[in-house]
Amino acid sequence: MTTDTLSPALTSLTVPAARCDACGAVPALDLPGGYLECARCHARRVMFQGAEAHLAAELAPLLGIWAQHWQAAGLTERQLTDVLELMSLTDLAAQPEAATAAEGGEGSE
Ligand SMILES: [Zn+2]
Repeated sequence: MTTDTLSPALTSLTVPAARCDACGAVPALDLPGGYLECARCHARRVMFQGAEAHLAAELAPLLGIWAQHWQAAGLTERQLTDVLELMSLTDLAAQPEAATAAEGGEGSE
């Protein structure tokens, strides 16, 4: 429908444009879940949530084994949560190099 087919009363109506809660851009859409976002912030949030879900799916089996091991050794769930909270992406990215060095590294025979 074009504005040519609307009555003059309808064409004079204006809807206030919503502002993005994240960046302040206009227009923003009122989305399910209570998000008021522009297209760019919406895409970024969806990618963030996708990365979070992907990481959780990949790590869940490994974390389960890790948690069972350390709980059997005497650590509490709270202590293990503290360990996880102290880990950063930088720490995790450095682990392959540390593991290689601990094993004697490449070409160190
Ligand atoms: Zn935005």
